[in-house]
Amino acid sequence: MENNEKKMEKIISLAKQRGFVFSGSEIYGGLQNAWDFGPLGAEMKMNIKTEWWNRFVRGRSDMVGIDTALIMNNKVWQASGHLENFTDPLVECKECHHRFRADHLLEDYFEKNPDVIHEDATNNVSKMAEDLKSFDVKCPDCEGELMKPQQFNMMLKTHLGATEDKASEAYLRPETAQGMFVNFKNIIDSTRKRLPFGIAQIGKAFRNEITPGNYIFRTREFEQMEIEYFIPVPKTDAGWQGYFESWRKEMKEWISYLGIRQEEIYELEVSREELAHYSKRTIDFEYKFPFGQKELYGLAYRTDFDLKNHNLKYRDPKTEEEYIPHVIEPTFGVERTILAVMCSAYTEEDLPNQGEGEEDGAEKRIVMKFPKWLAPIKVAVLPLSKKEELSDEAKIIADDLRGSFATEYDETQSIGKRYRRQDEIGTPYCVTVDFDSLEDKKVTVRDRDTMKQERISISEIKQYLSERL
Ligand SMILES: [Zn+2]
Repeated sequence: MENNEKKMEKIISLAKQRGFVFSGSEIYGGLQNAWDFGPLGAEMKMNIKTEWWNRFVRGRSDMVGIDTALIMNNKVWQASGHLENFTDPLVECKECHHRFRADHLLEDYFEKNPDVIHEDATNNVSKMAEDLKSFDVKCPDCEGELMKPQQFNMMLKTHLGATEDKASEAYLRPETAQGMFVNFKNIIDSTRKRLPFGIAQIGKAFRNEITPGNYIFRTREFEQMEIEYFIPVPKTDAGWQGYFESWRKEMKEWISYLGIRQEEIYELEVSREELAHYSKRTIDFEYKFPFGQKELYGLAYRTDFDLKNHNLKYRDPKTEEEYIPHVIEPTFGVERTILAVMCSAYTEEDLPNQGEGEEDGAEKRIVMKFPKWLAPIKVAVLPLSKKEELSDEAKIIADDLRGSFATEYDETQSIGKRYRRQDEIGTPYCVTVDFDSLEDKKVTVRDRDTMKQERISISEIKQYLSERL
C-alpha cells in the first residue's frame, strides 16, 4: 500500500512538473478537486479522443457521431428518470455540518469492523439510517453526531436567463447519453441508418459529487466518450447477448491498444441490487489504480428504457413493423483513460549508462512507456550544445518534422538531462545534432524504450520516423 501511495504521489508530481495536469484555479488556492490539463495533457486528451472517434465512428459503417448541447430541456431529465433517481444518500454532521455519503461511511465502518454482522443496505436510505444509528457511526471529521441520511440529487443545477426562480432552473447534463436518445428520430431521418446501428458522442458531463477525489479519477466536471448502439427487440436473451459480447470484445481491444495490460483490468459483473435504474446487465471494467481497483469503463444493456420514456419508435423500412429498439451502451471516461494510461506507463529503470550522452550521473530513469500513438510529443530535436552552428541546423530539422509529428526542440541543460526529461514525458524518439552532423549530414536517433542509438541521414529522418510512429 505504501508503495502504491508513493507511486501516486510520483505520478501527480511528474504530471504537474512536466505539464500534463495542473490543479484548477491554483493561484487562488484551487477548487475542490478541479483540474486543468497542461500542454502535454491536452495533447494526450486530443490523441485519445481522435483515435477513439476514428476507431468507433469513422472506421465503422454502422456508426454515426453527434455533438449535442450540455443544457437540455428539463423534460429530458424527467423522462430519463434522472430528476427522480439520480441521487446519492447523504448524511450531515450536526456539529461541523460537513456532508458525507452515508453508504461510504457504512462501507468504511464495516471494513474496519469485519466481525460485525450486517445486511447490505444498498440504495435503501431507511436501512442506512438504521445502521448508522445502531452501529453509532460518527462524523469522520469531528466525531460529531450525524443527522438522518437523505437522498440528494447529483445533477448540477443552474439558472437560464436573468431571473433565478423555479421556472428558470436548468441542469448541466449528467451524461452525454440523453443527447443521443432524444435525437434518435433526427438521425434516422437525416442519415437513413437501419438497425442495428449506433450513435457516438464525446463531450463534457457534470455531477455534483459530494466527495470528489483520487486526483482526476472523480471530478464534478468530466468528459465522456459514449456509444448508444440500437438493436432490434430481442426475442430471446441471445438476441442482445451477441451484441453485448461483441462490444465487450471491442472495449477489451481498445484497452490493450492503450498499452494497458490485461492483468491490470478486472471485469466486474455488477450485481442485480447495484444496477442503475435503467440497466438489465452491466459490466464494469475496473482498473487496478494505485489507490484501489476502481471503475474505468462501463458496458450496459439499457433495454428499451430510454427510447420508451422519450416515446420514440423505429419503423422497419422492409416490414413496416414499428417498435422500440433496445440499446447496448459502452461508456469510456476520458480523464480516467489518461489516469490509467499514466499509471500503466509509469516505469522506473536502472540506468545501464549505454549510449553517448546518457551518463549524467543519474542511476535511475523514469520512463513513461506510452504507446507511440498516444505520446504527447513524438520526437524531440536536441542540439548537443548551445553552439550556434548546432542549434541552427537542429532548428531546421525540427521545423521540417513539425509538420508531420508533434515535435519539441530543446537546447537547455546537458544532453543527459534532456534525455531524462523526454523519457519522463514518454517521447518515443530523440534526434541529436552534434558536430559530426555538420560534416556527415547524419544525426543520432535514440529510442525511448531500448535507449539504442542509430546514425541516420538527415534526409532520411522523416521516412525513418514515419515507419515507426
Ligand atoms: Zn463533524
